[in-house]
Amino acid sequence: MMAAPLLSIDKLHVQFRTYAGVVHAVNGMSFDVRKGEIFGLVGESGCGKSVTGLAILRMVPHPGQISAGSILFHGEDLLLKSKSEMQAIRGGRIAMIFQDPSASLNPVFTIGNQITRVIRQHLPVSRDEAKERALSMFAAVGLPDPENIFHTYPHELSGGLQQRAMIALALSTGAELLVADEPTTALDVTIQAQILVLLAELRDKQGVSILLITHNLGVVAETCDRVGVAYAGSIVEMGDTEDVLYHMKHPYTHGLLAALPHPSRRGQLLQAIEGNVPNGLALPSGCPFHPRCEHVMDVCREKKPELVCLGAEHLVACHLYDEQRS
Ligand code: SF4
Repeated sequence: MMAAPLLSIDKLHVQFRTYAGVVHAVNGMSFDVRKGEIFGLVGESGCGKSVTGLAILRMVPHPGQISAGSILFHGEDLLLKSKSEMQAIRGGRIAMIFQDPSASLNPVFTIGNQITRVIRQHLPVSRDEAKERALSMFAAVGLPDPENIFHTYPHELSGGLQQRAMIALALSTGAELLVADEPTTALDVTIQAQILVLLAELRDKQGVSILLITHNLGVVAETCDRVGVAYAGSIVEMGDTEDVLYHMKHPYTHGLLAALPHPSRRGQLLQAIEGNVPNGLALPSGCPFHPRCEHVMDVCREKKPELVCLGAEHLVACHLYDEQRS
């Protein structure tokens, strides 16, 4: 049976007013993250995936503005919450981790000091109880010798251990949703794999839902239950990871996968998608992928395609499938 959505984003728009004009960074983004799943949001730089992550926590930096749409968490719109309500949700029920853990951890305080402070900010516990909770989180994320880690400064840990500490800190208050923005990009390949295994364990053992933001289709294939492919600020294809990666429908998803190195294409040039990602200052009319698409039709230049269901849970936004809605 399909799990209920924990987070539901509908037609989200985020704009940045700059001296050069209005940049449309997120342009009608819609997807759900269900309870106990890892949902991958994948796309090239500039497709709006990180801004969407920040929007969920209402942390879009100035001069960005959420201009339309809704972000439902447990059915309640986060965009209608007061500042103090959002402060309680941020870090309490929804947590976020980033690519570079050393930039998120404070270098002048020990890991133990930082995590107990966060726990006591969100939960009514004593200092000793907070420490106990911290030590058990360290163990849960596979940090060796939790008591020693507690007294360690961030710079004394490797990148992989820092990211584990960051995940422990993020989930120490019992957050139900973890927004992980490129959490393995700055790490060595072997450490990347360990962090991905850890995320899957946290989903399985603790029931944490994870929105995994990445540019890496390999990471999606390894870890995600479902995936949404983003282009120019909206989803162009979405479904079970296997369906999207092995039975892809959208010409952009085709292009992304064809651009990956594969042993069967040894010695051949990688196939790049012609053209460039559109500039958010001047998005193309109609389908934003049309200037790069080899299947472009007249309708594509005029009308932006809606996401339509092609059966089961596979959705695609492309006029090639206008006749096949189920
Ligand atoms: Fe290509 Fe048209 Fe589909 Fe856009 S809508 S991906 S231009 S065929």
